[in-house]
Amino acid sequence: MFDHPSFDQHERVVFAHDAATGLRAVVAVHSSARGPAAGGCRLWHYKSTQDALADVLRLSRGMSYKNAMAGLPLGGGKAVIMIDADRPKTPALLEAFGRFVESLHGQYITAEDVGASVADMEIVAGQTRYVSGLPRTAVTSDGNPSPKTALGVYLGIKAAVKFRLKKDELRGLTVAVQGLGGVGYELCKLLAADGARLRVADVREAVTQKAATQFDATVSSPDRILFERADVVAPCALGALFDADTIPKLQTPIIAGAANNQLATAQDGARLHSAGVLYAPDYVINAGGIISVGREYLGGATAESIGAEIHRIPVRLTEIFVRSSATHRPTSELADEMARQLLAEA
Ligand code: NAD
Repeated sequence: MFDHPSFDQHERVVFAHDAATGLRAVVAVHSSARGPAAGGCRLWHYKSTQDALADVLRLSRGMSYKNAMAGLPLGGGKAVIMIDADRPKTPALLEAFGRFVESLHGQYITAEDVGASVADMEIVAGQTRYVSGLPRTAVTSDGNPSPKTALGVYLGIKAAVKFRLKKDELRGLTVAVQGLGGVGYELCKLLAADGARLRVADVREAVTQKAATQFDATVSSPDRILFERADVVAPCALGALFDADTIPKLQTPIIAGAANNQLATAQDGARLHSAGVLYAPDYVINAGGIISVGREYLGGATAESIGAEIHRIPVRLTEIFVRSSATHRPTSELADEMARQLLAEA
């Protein structure tokens, strides 16, 4: 564990197994320097425990950086639940996960991530109080973070377009959105309302057809969409997309989307920079959801105060873009440096 390439000084990594329900889960707490470690729970068909471990370690460090950059008094953590045909998501399995979270006594606060719904978190909340993103504590909606994440990404895209393309509006620009789930579909709504032309791709055909009808979007294939000509590419599915093989194929000046861990390795940020692509660091642009659920969990927030915090995302991004341009350094490197500094100060 201590030699794992993504270990990166995690404070705790806890494995849970529950024979009765088939639960196999890992909670990783990267840092509690700024507060209790907050980050969602991902339910995924991992090929191996090693894959699940690598994912949770990378995601939880990302949460430390994300929460610090968003100015939240929260540390970074994440949970993954390994599901498969023999161990499907069931209420009993989610309850076992809830008991696991409770056993950590608030060192980790969970929420929705890929594969988990608000209804799932309600079941988890039956076993533990350390859950955010619930209708009962929600300030503005049903507790689902996705629309808030989409709002932050939309504002971030506008900031990137202003910086790189010197345009104040999206009208007439093409935005390619990969993944039309909770975040991607909401993002399309905001972009379409602003007059952007949409290209979309998802592995679920029904949802791309819906987008084609609702937004007059052009449907592309999940494999090609990142590499087609577009003013902005917005990855909103899974991560590890950009590496030495894929970066030379890009035909966009801007990458700005919600997916976590878009860079395969830290060096790929430098590759994007050398290729002349403006990259909006994922954990900065996609912080809207954690701002919303984090503030709701902490209490005392209003719809206005949460909205105002989400509107600071484009300001933070522009600061990173300006520094990158002034120092000729990759945006990803600068964001990591700023986040590490905030953690060190805490
Ligand atoms: P989701 O599960 O609701 O949606 C993901 C979508 O991507 C689904 O429609 C799925 O069919 C599609 N998809 C999967 N593989 C694909 C592929 N190869 N090509 C095209 N489409 C594919 O998830 P979400 O909540 O919308 O999150 C999307 C991404 O944003 C994830 O990486 C997540 O970690 C990240 N994120 C989400 C939030 C949030 O508030 N939900 C916050 C921060 C970051």
